[in-house]
Amino acid sequence: MTQTTKPLAVITGASSGIGAAIARHLSDAGHPLLLLARRADRLEALGLPNAICRCVDVTDTAALTAAIDEAEVAYGPVDFLVNNAGVMLLGAMDVQEPTEWQRMFNVNVLALLGATQAVLRGMKARNSGTILNVSSVAGKKTFPNHAAYTGSKFAVTGITENLREEVAESGVRVMAIYPGAVETELLSHTTDKDIVDGYEDWKTSMGGVLVADDIARAATFMYAQPQGVNIRDITIAATRQP
Ligand code: NDP
Repeated sequence: MTQTTKPLAVITGASSGIGAAIARHLSDAGHPLLLLARRADRLEALGLPNAICRCVDVTDTAALTAAIDEAEVAYGPVDFLVNNAGVMLLGAMDVQEPTEWQRMFNVNVLALLGATQAVLRGMKARNSGTILNVSSVAGKKTFPNHAAYTGSKFAVTGITENLREEVAESGVRVMAIYPGAVETELLSHTTDKDIVDGYEDWKTSMGGVLVADDIARAATFMYAQPQGVNIRDITIAATRQP
């Protein structure tokens, strides 16, 4: 651990995909990091300096809060929370297991609220800080076999906008990013092979999708603005995505 002058950033779901890319970009910008996910080996494998890596299931708010407390002792108050951890379990409503709906709402929505609450009191007291929620184009429009996932991301959209207004006067920024399709591990958890194949065909028909670095560049740009400037949202997708 070396001394760093940049403030602490917390990234949930930093073990792969978009979260890992945002971690790399923030690290390159000199920020100390708290990286959270269940696969701690994947967090450690990023090999980032001044990064505390903790195996935390984000639905366990007590564990998440303990990790934040530990990181704040080492690096000072959290200035940036990236609520990125998410699961996408696509399925047709008439056959999908309700446990999959629960998992998506627990991780994509309730854990986001829990992490937000864990940092918000301190941010409001300091009249400073930024919370970035990773929503989705599926938080704005619908797609086949996405009902529960889309529902969870529409919830993220509503929560973000509501909280932004609620805390605006305190000076805390709340913002959201809406990625289109990005090549990550996200689709790999869907169990219906026909749905997975159809999604892959859709990506191929567009000539490919974004990579995680594309999202990380936009996210770090949003955060890098002066505290008095809030880029409330960015929607970012492959040019050929309809
Ligand atoms: P990945 O599957 O690559 O990453 C998901 C991350 O979430 C992993 O680091 C995973 O870590 C973490 N995660 C999942 N469940 C939990 C949990 N219970 N506790 C802690 N961490 C958890 O997918 P992406 O990078 O694509 O997804 C990141 C975000 O981007 C998600 O919110 C997703 O909905 C959103 N998004 C993605 C798009 C895409 O096309 N890829 C498009 C639009 C939005 P671990 O398994 O180690 O716990």
